[in-house]
Amino acid sequence: MSEPLVIVGNGMAAARLVDELARVALGRYAVAVIGDEPRLAYNRVLLSSVLAGETASHDIELRPASWWRDRGVTLKYGCVANEIDVGRRELKIANEESITFSRLVLATGSAPLRLNVPGADLAGVHTFRDSRDVDLLLTLAAQKKRVVVVGGGLLGLEAAYGLAKAGAPVTLVHLMDRLMERQLDAPAAALLKSLVERKGIEVMLEANTARIHGETHVRGVELADGRLIEAEAVIFAAGIRPNISLAKEAGIPVNRGIVVDDHLRTSAPDIFAIGECAEHRGICYGLVEPAYEQARVLARHLAGRQACYGGSVVATNLKVSGVSVFSAGDFMRAPGSEAIVLSDAGSGTYKKLVISEGRLSGAVLVGDVGDALWYLDLIRTRKPVATIRADMMFGRSLAVRSEAA
Ligand SMILES: Cc1cc2nc3c(=O)[nH]c(=O)nc-3n(C[C@H](O)[C@H](O)[C@H](O)COP(=O)(O)OP(=O)(O)OC[C@H]3O[C@@H](n4cnc5c(N)ncnc54)[C@H](O)[C@@H]3O)c2cc1C
Repeated sequence: MSEPLVIVGNGMAAARLVDELARVALGRYAVAVIGDEPRLAYNRVLLSSVLAGETASHDIELRPASWWRDRGVTLKYGCVANEIDVGRRELKIANEESITFSRLVLATGSAPLRLNVPGADLAGVHTFRDSRDVDLLLTLAAQKKRVVVVGGGLLGLEAAYGLAKAGAPVTLVHLMDRLMERQLDAPAAALLKSLVERKGIEVMLEANTARIHGETHVRGVELADGRLIEAEAVIFAAGIRPNISLAKEAGIPVNRGIVVDDHLRTSAPDIFAIGECAEHRGICYGLVEPAYEQARVLARHLAGRQACYGGSVVATNLKVSGVSVFSAGDFMRAPGSEAIVLSDAGSGTYKKLVISEGRLSGAVLVGDVGDALWYLDLIRTRKPVATIRADMMFGRSLAVRSEAA
């Protein structure tokens, strides 16, 4: 008889886990997925493209209903999991129902942060995390509402771009002195700013949101230095927080995320966590690739095979059409490393490769990102680059040719 395995969260990590389980442990588990969003799992990464009008919302479903059915998965969506009874191996869900499990996987993702400033709860303040948010943002843009986006990271930039493209006047405010400071160095970020401004987005740096004005509805944003920006809507895109409350209330150890070991196990027996809600070796990843790697390792572990998760090398790709940005690994030059830089602001190109102990350890690309995956592979595989060092900057084809010569 199949063992009952329950997954909480019907997001990207959960869908990948079901896929991997079907490959390596078909029939071993009777899988149930409990997700609170009212639709089948979808590719959240593509919400930016939906907002920008480049992809239709119904095209981002990860798998059709028949795929889940064919794998015998019990799907409950639009259904919140409320409580875990660790001792009785029982999960309480909506309508006072409960499900028993032999294994439980938490894949609850993250929630967007709302800044703790006066006015943050006014009507007209939104976030950008799920497909309902995108529907709301598209309505704002169609009404040409004046929008302030708070946060100049990947999410804020993609929100600002989508809204501007859909017709809303947009100001993007960012606390730091450069955009995407966790992925880009100063020259790359300056180039990005100018490219984004060319898309009609006003960018304000070192802009600390102090208060949102309005009585019942947003009227404007006040910065800590006194500047006032008129606005009819505010979008918070200033970070995420892992959804850990279900685990925490069940007594499962959490820090920022749900603490897991190299087998994605929490310290409660047969309870696991993957994706953005998990914290592995002190890191909570906010990207999909680590979630997929974790899903793969967990599926193998659940199939009784040898598998260990040692952490992920992360890479970021900005999805703003005409503004290509890629960043991976250690791009800020750790002590002892060297950087090769090619900078041509006129043509909108910037490339920086960081080399450490004869290997590529980081890369930042703006403009020409054609070889991004090759650089990422060099970083991940830690292949020695001495023989291609002179040509590496000019792309894979030249470097591989000169290596062969
Ligand atoms: C607009 C946007 C653009 C992005 N772009 C990129 C990108 O370019 N590259 C990249 O790598 N990453 C990107 N990300 C991040 C990426 O989408 C996430 O890393 C990925 O979705 C994480 O998968 P997950 O399954 O851990 O979480 P999620 O996909 O968030 O899934 C978690 C699910 O669990 C549900 N849930 C939570 N609690 C409960 C509960 N108690 N009961 C039932 N269900 C619950 C949530 O509602 C959600 O549906 C982007 C995110 C957004 C929002």
